[in-house]
Amino acid sequence: MKTALITHADCLGHVTPTGHPERVARLEHILHALEPLDLNRVTAPLAADDDILRIHPASYLSDIRDARPAEGFTQIDGDTFMSPGSVDAAFRAAGAVVRAVDMVMGGEAPNAFCAVRPPGHHAETSTAMGFCLFGNAALAAKHALDHHGLSRVAVVDFDVHHGNGTQDLLWDEPRALVITSQQMPLWPGTGRPDETGAHGNVLNLPLAPNTGGAEMRAAWRDQAFPRLRSFRPELIVISTGFDAHADDPLANLNWETEDFAWITSELCTIAREVCDGRIVSTLEGGYDLNALAAATRAHVQELMKAAQ
Ligand SMILES: [Zn+2]
Repeated sequence: MKTALITHADCLGHVTPTGHPERVARLEHILHALEPLDLNRVTAPLAADDDILRIHPASYLSDIRDARPAEGFTQIDGDTFMSPGSVDAAFRAAGAVVRAVDMVMGGEAPNAFCAVRPPGHHAETSTAMGFCLFGNAALAAKHALDHHGLSRVAVVDFDVHHGNGTQDLLWDEPRALVITSQQMPLWPGTGRPDETGAHGNVLNLPLAPNTGGAEMRAAWRDQAFPRLRSFRPELIVISTGFDAHADDPLANLNWETEDFAWITSELCTIAREVCDGRIVSTLEGGYDLNALAAATRAHVQELMKAAQ
């Protein structure tokens, strides 16, 4: 069986103002880089309201719908904008992760990558921020727990920014383990080691500016992977951000393409040990177009190797 690539053209309809780093060209570059790969290409459905309501209250859903501009942009926080196509894009992104979980849990795909935007890991329960509208990774976890009846789901996040939204949405969820590494100090400022979740279910791994691949690998190998193995998740969700890359303009870590391949390969190995290889990966950040495309391709190629 092939790795699933789940996306939708509506995710290109979420437009941001000129000069904004989270731009349409990101997804265009990714899709171009993945074009030659032998993937099971799947069209993302729109998420149902009931899906979104697993993680956000109805009032927030109404606020997001009401913020949709007829033309131009609505600015909903310092760096988060909506265009006329943003609501559909956000519902496709959320629908993609739901479909990915259904495929992987249903045996239709061994693993899946959701090439979607807007990203999700900064969206808190009732607060859109950091380019994010709906908490896609947390939704994947909740859907697997509540709809598929799993007992343990892990969300791992190696985006350079702290996954504050995922942490917020799963803070009081004892069936979820959240492991996230991030540059610190860096926006949004959270992600300290003493943020451990209501049930000790959150592990934060802050990394100093200029941390390179070797130190990153040590942090994940020594702290994250033992914790992940002992939790024995039945599904691993990856918040896949590529902005820890040395070329990224928004942050100062020095990971290279091979580091993203390495962490993906390691996560695939653990998934094979504990959950028959089941992984759902969803795109978060990554703002240097060439680095983003190369690292995404390396990530997906590791998923493909694991699927064989
Ligand atoms: Zn990021």
